[in-house]
Parts: sequence; C-alpha cells; structure tokens
Amino acid sequence: SGGRERLSYERFGVAVRELAQAIADDGYRPDVVLSIARGGVFVAGGLAYALDCKNIHLVNVEFYTGVGTTLEMPVMLAPVPNRIDFTDKKVLIADDVADTGKTLKLVRDFCLDAVAEVRSAVVYEKSQSLVKCEYVWKRTDEWIEFPWSVQPPVVKRTGQVLDA
Ligand code: 5GP
Repeated sequence: SGGRERLSYERFGVAVRELAQAIADDGYRPDVVLSIARGGVFVAGGLAYALDCKNIHLVNVEFYTGVGTTLEMPVMLAPVPNRIDFTDKKVLIADDVADTGKTLKLVRDFCLDAVAEVRSAVVYEKSQSLVKCEYVWKRTDEWIEFPWSVQPPVVKRTGQVLDA
C-alpha cells in the first residue's frame, strides 16, 4: 500500500490498555511478561501494570546485520534469559509488531518446551505474519511509525555560551 501508520505516545497508552483488557476478558493471567527488546519493552511495561503482573523478563532479538546485509533469520543476543525462570509458568510474550512473525516465532519456540503456557500480545500484526498472536490491538499492512523510534537518536549538543 505504501501508506504509513503513525502511532503517538498518547494513542499507544490507549492501545496498551485495550490490549490488556482483551487479555483480562479472555481470562489469561500471565505469571511472567516476556518483552522483546527494544520495542516490546514499552508494550510489556504497560501490559504488566494493567494486568497486575510484577514479573517482567526481557530478551534482545535483532536481525543479524553483516556488512550492509541483513540475514533471513533473527537472532537472540546475549544475555539470553534462563529458561528455568519460565518453568511451569504462564508466559505472555509482548512485542510492538508481528511483521514476518519470525522474531515472535523464535522467542515462542524458545519458551515452548519449558513453560506451562505461552501466548503473545502485540500492538500490531501484519497479515503475512507466520505467528498468529492471541492478542492483537490492530491489524495493518502499512509501515508503522512508533513514537519511540520515529525520531533519530539524540546527539550531544555543543555547549554554546549564551551570554550577552
Ligand atoms: P518480524 O518481521 O520478525 O515480525 O519483525 C521484526 C522487527 O522488525 C519488529 O520487532 C520491529 O522492530 C521491526 N518492524 C517490522 N515491521 C515494522 C514496522 O512496520 N515499523 C517499524 N517501526 N518496525 C517494524
């Protein structure tokens, strides 16, 4: 389509609350929220508060980039969480978007044999995603601009002396 889906911080606040409500209505009460850094950290924080879950874990996943190249598969970066922390737990994986779904599949597969149950919550899910998340706030096939990554990183300002 070529269009853009723009999410503001204000609208994100609504989204994460509505996502949590859907999870609560479904009767899923996670013991652990597992966030996929970095975008999923924002989602996990909001969901954990709204669901009154005090246990947040984090996994860093990136598509491996070589010299100007991106490989097919995402990889988990160190430190990889200890699966013992998820043993017999009800886990909720939180991320910002399932696009190809490869990132979510990696994390979900990592959990599967250890946990009592694992479900996934995302703000956005695209139609091509190979993982169908249990909880989705909005479906789109557009490129999404998230409030935390729409701007470039800040750079150190040069110290200008502003005296007259
Ligand atoms: P995957 O393709 O594995 O489902 O998504 C991997 C990651 O790519 C996402 O967690 C996200 O960081 C990034 N990504 C995928 N689609 C979009 C998008 O539409 N907008 C932004 N900002 N990031 C995206």
